[in-house]
Amino acid sequence: MLKTTQLSQERFSSLSTVSRVVIVGGGFSGATIGRLLALSRLFRREEMVIFEPRSRLGAGVAYDTNDPSLRLNVAAHRMRAIPGDPQRFARWFCETGRSGRDPEAGTKGAIYARRGDFADFMDNEMRPLLESGDILHMCERVTSIRRQNGCWRIEGTAGTILHADIVVVATGHPPPRTPAQFASGLQCHPRFISNPSSPCAFQKIQQSDNIIVIGAGLTALDVLATLRACGHGGEITLLSRSGLLPRPQATGSFALDGDLLKCFPKTALGLLQQVRSAIDEVTEKGLPWQSVFDALRHQGQAIWQALPPEGQRRFLRHLCRWFEIHRFRMPPQIKELVVRETATGRLHIRAGRIVSAAYDSQHILIDIATAPHRSIEQARAQWLILATGPDHENAIGHEACLLDLERVGLITKDPHGLGIKCDRENRAVARDGTPVEGLLIAGPLARGTFGELTSVPEIVDQAEKIVERIRQMHFTGTRRMAMRIDAE
Ligand SMILES: Cc1cc2nc3c(=O)[nH]c(=O)nc-3n(C[C@H](O)[C@H](O)[C@H](O)COP(=O)(O)OP(=O)(O)OC[C@H]3O[C@@H](n4cnc5c(N)ncnc54)[C@H](O)[C@@H]3O)c2cc1C
Repeated sequence: MLKTTQLSQERFSSLSTVSRVVIVGGGFSGATIGRLLALSRLFRREEMVIFEPRSRLGAGVAYDTNDPSLRLNVAAHRMRAIPGDPQRFARWFCETGRSGRDPEAGTKGAIYARRGDFADFMDNEMRPLLESGDILHMCERVTSIRRQNGCWRIEGTAGTILHADIVVVATGHPPPRTPAQFASGLQCHPRFISNPSSPCAFQKIQQSDNIIVIGAGLTALDVLATLRACGHGGEITLLSRSGLLPRPQATGSFALDGDLLKCFPKTALGLLQQVRSAIDEVTEKGLPWQSVFDALRHQGQAIWQALPPEGQRRFLRHLCRWFEIHRFRMPPQIKELVVRETATGRLHIRAGRIVSAAYDSQHILIDIATAPHRSIEQARAQWLILATGPDHENAIGHEACLLDLERVGLITKDPHGLGIKCDRENRAVARDGTPVEGLLIAGPLARGTFGELTSVPEIVDQAEKIVERIRQMHFTGTRRMAMRIDAE
């Protein structure tokens, strides 16, 4: 694989070459689109390029980890990572002997594999396509995307310049944003960790140090699991506005048949009422409430798109947290850890909002406006870790190449602050409101338009649609490309 990449990279750096499709970002979204395009045989060898600075494709922010304490939040048989073969990951996990090497993965009939194993699985899927040259992996970051003479000019950090008919933006999850109240006082403080997924983030934490984690979602639980696995034994407080933790996965096998909602609500309140009555119905039948949220995801995009913009706004404002803790649940291993830690008194969950932060020689000191009465309480700890998850609202601002596109009006923020605005065919929507041909937005970046678009199965469904769209564009004729470049 490396050989192919290096050879091509040298050639591509010295020539201004034409390729048909460039995918910017080779996390799960970009890799899945690349894989499907390669298998579709729409393009000749070396016409399909993925720019990704990580050494492997398909891992991205979510799965690029060697930390054995980080597990998938979804059972292996529900990952559905490979279109047409939904059980492939679960099968691969057993066939490659991973279940033997990770006996804690299996719990009550389901496997919750390590995230790093899922990255290995994706690597295994991508490798043959890289070796055959059907996909070229440019192991570098894209710094600039420009429209030039009717095609796209893409430039990477290593100096590669490519021209393409189609660009797929799959830059995924941006890093977290430091809240304004810390930005001046703490941003550079050595015991304030603003990105817990950066390598060696926890290296300097001593075993008995007390820690406040900002956030109580799955990212915060990752922090808890990693610290405990490293032998950290001090007190950990998870602090969030709601003080609510993700709910646990249900055990056993269950699935609801057919569509959960017969008609789509027009308001956020209507949605809440329908979901609540569905939960009542299934629990009467002896099924877990989790089955409702699993069934909802099949209709998630249609439900979101049926809500008028005001309904979407109200959902995000009032229901989003409630929805997320039920929809994105913790795996059983993490639930056991939380129960254990709470019982020993080393884990605290607090509801409140940080209003200010300061530090002395020993501690970081924070003022918390506590819910529900908003009285101010003080807390102190040796470390403060930001675990609020990706800063989707500022997805464009984190990437120079996206800022380029925004500056010339070819992309805009999605109005709900969920990513980049696109139409239902995944085309970026320009500042003047028109769709931009040949510039497609993939993965969670497109959530503003589609709603439910975070997890593997939804990303796979979207990838299939994007590939179909590219197929249509391909056949409407873009083969004049080489002539355009020659003329430049
Ligand atoms: C911690 C975590 C755990 C998750 N666990 C699960 C789970 O158990 N089950 C499930 O179904 N879903 C899970 N998800 C959700 C889901 O799998 C992710 O939403 C999905 O991986 C998104 O993939 P992506 O490629 O769009 O984004 P990312 O994973 O963010 O990948 C984007 C890639 O783009 C690259 N990139 C960024 N900028 C540039 C640039 N300028 N040039 C070139 N490359 C660039 C980055 O290096 C990165 O590799 C999880 C998500 C997270 C964050």
